[in-house]
Amino acid sequence: MHPLLIGDRRTLGSGTIEVIEPSRGEPFETVASAGLADLEDAVAAARVAFPAWSSMTAVARAEILFKFAALVQSNAEELAVLEARNAGKPIGDARWEANHVAETLRYYAGAADKFFGETIQVKKPGLDITLHAPLGVVGLIVPWNFPMVIATWKLAPALACGNTVVLKPASLTPLSAIRLGELALEAGVPPGVLNVIPGPGASIGAALAAHPDIAKIGFTGETATGRTIMAIAAKTIKRIGLELGGKSPNVIFADVDVEQVAQEAVSSVFANTGQDCCARSRIIVERSIHARFVEALAAATRRLVIGEPLEESTQMGPLISGKQRETSESYVRIGTEEGARLVCGGGRLERRGYYMSPAILDGAHRGMRVVNEEIFGPVAVVMAFDTEEQAIEMANDTIYGLSGSLFTNDFKRGLRVAQAIRTGVLSVNSSASVHLQAPFGGFKQSGVGRELGMHALHHYSEVRNIYFATH
Ligand code: NDP
Repeated sequence: MHPLLIGDRRTLGSGTIEVIEPSRGEPFETVASAGLADLEDAVAAARVAFPAWSSMTAVARAEILFKFAALVQSNAEELAVLEARNAGKPIGDARWEANHVAETLRYYAGAADKFFGETIQVKKPGLDITLHAPLGVVGLIVPWNFPMVIATWKLAPALACGNTVVLKPASLTPLSAIRLGELALEAGVPPGVLNVIPGPGASIGAALAAHPDIAKIGFTGETATGRTIMAIAAKTIKRIGLELGGKSPNVIFADVDVEQVAQEAVSSVFANTGQDCCARSRIIVERSIHARFVEALAAATRRLVIGEPLEESTQMGPLISGKQRETSESYVRIGTEEGARLVCGGGRLERRGYYMSPAILDGAHRGMRVVNEEIFGPVAVVMAFDTEEQAIEMANDTIYGLSGSLFTNDFKRGLRVAQAIRTGVLSVNSSASVHLQAPFGGFKQSGVGRELGMHALHHYSEVRNIYFATH
């Protein structure tokens, strides 16, 4: 059994979590589950650790974080296998993620001593400066789709700024978070600076969000859960960072190489088995290439190698759980009942585990549930447009605004449309969503705040203004 990590103690918590391997649909590890008393202990440990960690020079903190990054790097293969098995990811993707975790830690270790304040010319004589002060103890609540990546996007800037952390991983995928906590201790991160407590979101997550000694909640997950956390956090005017759902558009104009863009569209919607808040799940294609594009899209989808996460050739693994697969299947039914045409996929694979063949629904239009709602599984919808204005309107016709792509060889049009699409992240002639050095986050109901880049540091610190009078 994997214990909770509180300070430098490994404790058994108040229950257990049976961790399932999605490619088999069977349990493969047991993890301790925190109760409310464990949560209190974790917050207390983080409070005790805060004064020393926050008053250390940024240079000294950076040295420890560089060691943490190096240990993650040297254990990257172990972390990748753990994540591939627990989240059902292709091992190639999991390796990229483990390396990205090390890279993220290195980036914020390097950033710690480069997060400068200002000197400001005020009316009175003297010196006015700003400082970035850490917030205190921050609570991090993360989901199961990119467990160690999303945890690190939050804990790395939080620690670099001098905060201490209580991390609650998703109950479906707690293993890599526990391992990261162990590696942090081994690297010399002082006990109590990073505490890891798996436990049920509805009780432990909510209690973390309500806790008066928690200064901020950094959360990634469903928009509905984000709304709940926002309401709970209001009681103590807690800082919040929310990375929530998405229904990202992929706008494709007729002047592109159809085969090439169709191939790219497949990976941008079905990577991570579609369980990606940035999945380009609304494919919006210019009518003159629509039929040819859908054909190429379906052909590229059928070529995807679906298989065991640990097989090197696998491009798509299972869904995370039976429930997630049922939800995706139900949307395929809903889409066809709403009048969309099922071009390919949508069925279960004849094998153990939560596998499903990726589905494309064509002829979708405004007002359909499959167009409006985040499915978070391997289901894409295709819609046709006639004019640039229509394409923009369709792309923006959503409560979400996380990411999006657009493909065109007309530079001026690319610029016009990119400026008109209301998302936090947009890629032109690319389906990239994440650049470690650039801000990531959503407009509208996709969230509050930004992660990554130097932007994240502002969200894990308070600006202090100090004025020294000279007269
Ligand atoms: P959930 O919102 O259900 O869970 C996310 C985390 O919140 C888990 O750790 C969960 O714990 C916890 N939690 C659940 N209920 C509460 C509560 N009432 N109070 C506090 N914490 C709670 O999301 P999923 O895990 O289902 O993740 C998928 C969702 O995440 C998708 O909708 C997706 O769009 C979104 N997402 C957004 C991203 C972004 O950057 N914008 C990135 C990745 C995902 P437990 O596991 O125990 O239930």
